[in-house]
Amino acid sequence: MSAWFGDHQVLLDVSLTMPAGQVTALIGPSGCGKSTFLRILNRMHELVPSASLAGEVRLDGDDIYDSGHRLIDARKHIGMVFQKPNPFPAMSIYDNVIAGLKLTGMRASRDEKDYLVERSLTSAGLWKEVKDRLRAPGGGLSGGQQQRLCIARSLAIKPKVLLMDEPCSALDPTSTRVIEETMGELQKELTIVIVTHNMQQAQRVSQQCAFFLASQGQPGHIVEHGDTEAMFDSPIDPRTYDYVNGRF
Ligand code: ADP
Ligand code: MG
Repeated sequence: MSAWFGDHQVLLDVSLTMPAGQVTALIGPSGCGKSTFLRILNRMHELVPSASLAGEVRLDGDDIYDSGHRLIDARKHIGMVFQKPNPFPAMSIYDNVIAGLKLTGMRASRDEKDYLVERSLTSAGLWKEVKDRLRAPGGGLSGGQQQRLCIARSLAIKPKVLLMDEPCSALDPTSTRVIEETMGELQKELTIVIVTHNMQQAQRVSQQCAFFLASQGQPGHIVEHGDTEAMFDSPIDPRTYDYVNGRF
């Protein structure tokens, strides 16, 4: 796919398959279009008035940009977590977790909600810490807990794909480790795509990696992608070598 903001092309012929059951890490310098790529994957890109797109995004074979595919379907199947944890601060932990249900038109009984809240918070590695204060406001949690609450909120809609845009950049190492462990469990049920500037993290959590670059007036594109271990051990492109070794 290729993407533009007005006349400014930000992505050029980016093509990537993100297999189920794997974590795919997107790496590359700031401004090379990684976040734009993620927003294209969940149809947030089209919310920017100047934005345009050429190409397709297939989820289990269906193009999510097809006219028969509703925006709400993309929202239901694709969860997103951002760099800055963004729970609804005044809303209770419980209500934060189920906040996405209404937005995606899902109905659930009280019992189903209770179950979903416990299940989602458990999957996000937060249940034990908050089970006795589910009615407390989400804004009262620590940064790492807030991020896990946001992960739980994404999981409550039972997505097929979880997109994470630098989810640990604003967190301390301990919270980062907890989230990385959580990802290891989640990937058994979900396709995960993570943008990270942390090369060690990319190596720890991902099986597949794509290196994005925008250079010399060229829009963001993928220089190299493939097996994470292979890309860090023996990158093909010298620019990948420099980047993963901290020389840029
Ligand atoms: P990355 O996540 O890799 O840092 P981004 O996807 O955020 O890169 O940005 C890619 C390019 O698109 C940058 O040149 C940025 O300035 C531009 N861009 C991002 N969002 C917008 C927007 N809403 N309007 C105009 N340009 C944007
Ligand atoms: Mg970004």
